[in-house]
Amino acid sequence: MSKKIIITIDGWSSCGKSTLAKQLAKELGYVYIDSGAMYRAITLYFLRNHIDWTDVAEVNSALENIHIDFEFNPKSQQSEIILNGENVEYVIRDLVIAEKVSDVAAIREVRTFAVAQQQKMGTKKGVVMDGRDIGTTVFPDAELKIFMTADIAVRVERRFKEMYEKNPNITIEEVKSNLEMRDYIDSHREVSPLRKADDAVEIDNTHLTMEEQLAFACELVTKRHLV
Ligand code: C5P
Repeated sequence: MSKKIIITIDGWSSCGKSTLAKQLAKELGYVYIDSGAMYRAITLYFLRNHIDWTDVAEVNSALENIHIDFEFNPKSQQSEIILNGENVEYVIRDLVIAEKVSDVAAIREVRTFAVAQQQKMGTKKGVVMDGRDIGTTVFPDAELKIFMTADIAVRVERRFKEMYEKNPNITIEEVKSNLEMRDYIDSHREVSPLRKADDAVEIDNTHLTMEEQLAFACELVTKRHLV
C-alpha cells in the first residue's frame, strides 16, 4: 500500500479550495477536513451566546464549552461539522457568520484551540485539509502544499451563485465586500496570517475547469512519487 501523506490547500476566500480538497480526498481515499468550518462554528457559538470576544477571559471560558466534531453524512456524502452535538454545516455558511468569522479567527486563543484539534486530526496522515494557515502553521512538514488563487471577479461570481441559491436577497456587492474584507483581515492579522508557504505550489484556477484543476493536482501527487 502507498504511503499516506498530508496535503494542505491554502488560499484566498472562495477560490475553490474546498472543491479541490474534496475531489482530491475522493480520488485518493483520504479524509477531507474543512478547517474554515471550525472557525465558522466557533463564531456561531460566540454570536449565539453573546460572547464579548475582545475579552480574553470570556473567550477562554467560552472555548472550554465548545466541542467540535466532524461526522460523515451518507445522504450528502460529505463530512459535516457538529458543534456541541448539533449539525451546523449549513447554518455556518450564512453571511452573518461570514461577516464576523475573520475577526474571531484572528484571536490568538481561538487559533491555538483550533490548530491543536487540526493537528490531532492529521496524526494518521491520509488527510487533505484546506484553510489559510495549514501549510504554514498547522502542518509545516506536509508532503504536498498547494496555494490557490483566482481573479477576484471570478471568485465573487462563484460565491454569489452559491449564496444566491440559499438567499435570493443577497447582492453581488455584499458578497464582494465580504470576500475583500476577509482576505484583508486574514492576510494582515498578527497570528498565522494567510500567506503562501515557501514550498507550496501555486494554482491559479481562474481559467481552469474542475476536471483540469484535479488533473493538475493529481499530477503533483504522482510527479513527486508521493503515492
Ligand atoms: O474557508 P472558509 O472561507 O470557510 O473560512 C472562513 C474564515 O475562517 C476565513 O475567512 C478565515 O478568517 C478563517 N480561517 C482561518 N484559518 C483557516 C481557515 C479559515 O483563519 N485555516
